[in-house]
Amino acid sequence: MSVSHPRAASAESCEPVPFIDLVAQYQTIKEEVKSAVDRCFESQTFILGDEVAALETEIAAYCDSQYAIGCASGTDALILALLAAGVKPGDEVITSPFTFFASAGAIHRVGAIPVLVDIEPDSFNLDPEKVEQAITSRTAAIMPVHIFGQCAEMEPLWRMSAAHDIPIIEDSAQAIGAEYRGRRTGVLGTIGCFSFFPTKNLGGAGDGGIMTTDDPDLAARLKRLRVHGDLGGYNHVEVGFNSRLDALQAAVLRVKLRHLDAWTEGRARNAERYCQLIEANGLSDVVKVPAILPDRRHVFNQFTTRVVGGQREKIMKSLKESQIGCAVYYPIPLHLQKCFAYLGYQPGDLPEAERACAEVMSLPIYTELPAAHLERVVEGISKALGRQANLVFPKAAAPAQRRAA
Ligand SMILES: *Cc1c(COP(=O)(O)O)cnc(C)c1O
Repeated sequence: MSVSHPRAASAESCEPVPFIDLVAQYQTIKEEVKSAVDRCFESQTFILGDEVAALETEIAAYCDSQYAIGCASGTDALILALLAAGVKPGDEVITSPFTFFASAGAIHRVGAIPVLVDIEPDSFNLDPEKVEQAITSRTAAIMPVHIFGQCAEMEPLWRMSAAHDIPIIEDSAQAIGAEYRGRRTGVLGTIGCFSFFPTKNLGGAGDGGIMTTDDPDLAARLKRLRVHGDLGGYNHVEVGFNSRLDALQAAVLRVKLRHLDAWTEGRARNAERYCQLIEANGLSDVVKVPAILPDRRHVFNQFTTRVVGGQREKIMKSLKESQIGCAVYYPIPLHLQKCFAYLGYQPGDLPEAERACAEVMSLPIYTELPAAHLERVVEGISKALGRQANLVFPKAAAPAQRRAA
């Protein structure tokens, strides 16, 4: 991986570079997955059961939480967490406008009002000052979203949470394994919510989600909310949901969890290589690489750059013509989504989120991305800008040097 190699031959440089390649990942774990799936079929237990309980124990250990409760999706994890935390119709919940729809969708779904506040331009995460300004007597929760795999700034949120007695619901859907000051996401708030959507860093073979908490009462409530509010023995103490995790998903996820840290290291290595190549080739005046904040472990669910000077569409069109994957997460901020028009936000209200939507471009980052393909991506950007003549591919830093840096 760290050896320098000659420029890719022309045949290879025409190969498509997919934005994500789950088939490549599957090839590395096929036998393990097959035997886990077989185990489920032999037991004919498909919903909850031992596999889910085992996954819950393993995720709790991974996140360093007391409890983990599986459910049907990341969206459901957010909904159940908001309800368990006592959010009621008409309450306000503060979250980011620059996230996947589900963050605010879940708030709406429990009858609460999404209060969208602007983001920090460097991390794309909630701006704590804006959160503070938005707190009212009706604020029932704060929902930071650890966008793209890097934790939000938590310390000021902890202060606000304690001062106003407001729970923090972490939207950790993109951030399993991410750390803030040495602590893992999932225990940075009252309840942590994770998604096992196939393209997340820990992705299942379908939908799935999990919630983490250190609070035994909240854990008990989350556990019954996912099974129609049943305490056990058809004793329904409240009306809940059918939001259970499948044993097959748990079995697959348990296999993948064993590889997660190695995959995360691969993502971080690719991110570092992009930064090196973008800098070395003088592209950083147009393509700004993501900021990696010093007190955090970024797990790179996405490698999201900012393309400045209005050149994003040109670059993306050119990359697509060369069959190089790239994507915009997210093109429309949530405060300007049609379904949230009733909230009354106008263009210009949250300028950093709007600017991010206009500038972001995510590049392929998965662990299995071949080194030559990663170089092709940078070459593609350079070509799009008409600068391809003087490309350089310096040797990747050796692992030891990287750690020292
Ligand atoms: C994926 C995602 C969700 C929703 O998870 P699902 O499992 O797809 O329901 C919520 N929030 C964020 C930030 C996400 O990226």
